[in-house]
Amino acid sequence: MIEDYTKIDKEILGEACRSTKPLEIVTDLCDEYESRWPGSGLDKASCEFMADELREYDLENVHLEKFTLPGWIRGKSSLKVLEPKEKEIDCIALPMSSEGTVEGELVYLSSGHIEVYDERAHEIKDRIVMVNSGNPEGMTRYLHRSEKYQRSVLAGAAGWIFMNHYPAYGPPTGGISPIIPGIGVSYEDGRYLARLLEKYGRVKVRMETWCKNQHVETWNIVGDLPGYSDLDEWIVYGAHYEGHDISVGALDDATGAACVMEIARILSNQRENLKRNMRFILFGAEEIGLYGSRAYLKDHPDFTSKIRFMLNFDAAGRAGRQGFCIHGWPKLMQFFESVKKAVGVDIPIWSRGSPYSDHWPFLLEGVPTATMGDPEEAKRRAGRGFGHTKYDTVDKVDLRVMRECIGNAALAALRIVNADDWPVKHRDQGEIDKLVQAQGYEKTVKLGKKLKAYLESHKDDLRPETLVYLQRLKGTWEEVI
Ligand SMILES: [Zn+2]
Repeated sequence: MIEDYTKIDKEILGEACRSTKPLEIVTDLCDEYESRWPGSGLDKASCEFMADELREYDLENVHLEKFTLPGWIRGKSSLKVLEPKEKEIDCIALPMSSEGTVEGELVYLSSGHIEVYDERAHEIKDRIVMVNSGNPEGMTRYLHRSEKYQRSVLAGAAGWIFMNHYPAYGPPTGGISPIIPGIGVSYEDGRYLARLLEKYGRVKVRMETWCKNQHVETWNIVGDLPGYSDLDEWIVYGAHYEGHDISVGALDDATGAACVMEIARILSNQRENLKRNMRFILFGAEEIGLYGSRAYLKDHPDFTSKIRFMLNFDAAGRAGRQGFCIHGWPKLMQFFESVKKAVGVDIPIWSRGSPYSDHWPFLLEGVPTATMGDPEEAKRRAGRGFGHTKYDTVDKVDLRVMRECIGNAALAALRIVNADDWPVKHRDQGEIDKLVQAQGYEKTVKLGKKLKAYLESHKDDLRPETLVYLQRLKGTWEEVI
């Protein structure tokens, strides 16, 4: 047991604050391997690059783990106003969208409050629904794009348009379910369509999506730093390495992957001070359904019970203070106060449980999890910021913020691997259910069940990719993404 961390903290923070490696890694990931999108070919090459790096840091057991998923490859898409006048609108297909041509009248549902789909069901049926990406007023939980899409599908929409609610970020991307064609349009074009609808009362559009829904292979990367004791307890630090296919995913999430790699490099020089084991995992295919993290847990069922703690780095090191969002563990919040004390600056430590990243499958297995970030920064930012747009590029990355993320998380790791009086145990199923319910996601799960029933009743008319999707749909907490 280490009595005084001061000397080791100084070594770690000194190394974190002088290294330029994280930015070099982000630059290589983005400039050499583009989006690292599952099935793109460059995903595998980027994994080999990251694995070589981890081997260079003397990590052990470094390897790639292959998994398959229902993937998606983009073709071109178009949106055309047909009536009351003709006009082409710039758009992009949303990942997992079905391929197809849909023609119909436009309905604009603004930010798409959950009540509007029933209230305006008669208007939605067989039409093309446009919803913006803003969170509806009066909703305390975050209403995710996929929920707005699914509620539109259930109301009978034939096509779906997702409009950015912030100007100058272009059309947003983001995964949906492969049921009806879906596209993204910019704030400016969305506002134009809404004005047209208001003025003329009736706007007819045609949308075309060309894309392939097909199974693809992609990879996770794993590397270990074994502790000096023979305790079989593990701390997992993870991040998804792939970005959305329209961008290079610099902030979401090359920075997260590079932070995890840099922590591995720095702690590799501190092995004699690591009592328990650390496993670093770089996940593939997060953006279209957390496939990498799910595959990892599925392929290693005996490993889960050995995980003391999992820290996820999604868009970590992006901006703001680099604090810890603890997913409903009051005793861990106390524990992380020691990290705050060690770094000597005010970092946020708060509790919330968002399902939208790779910690979620771990959380659903009962593992204590947390993510990094700053709730104040999230409020200042315009929505996702550059995330999920083609402007999520290397020039936005701030090495100083990455260094802070790396230093804080490495100091946390040092304390977590060494604590003999770790204050929490895994949650049982009852506690997991209670936590998820408390976050307000019950309605989303009910929606999953409703969607499953709806698709089953239309089974004969479904596209092949929708049938694949239906097979996987369970209507459980897992689908809250
Ligand atoms: Zn992400």
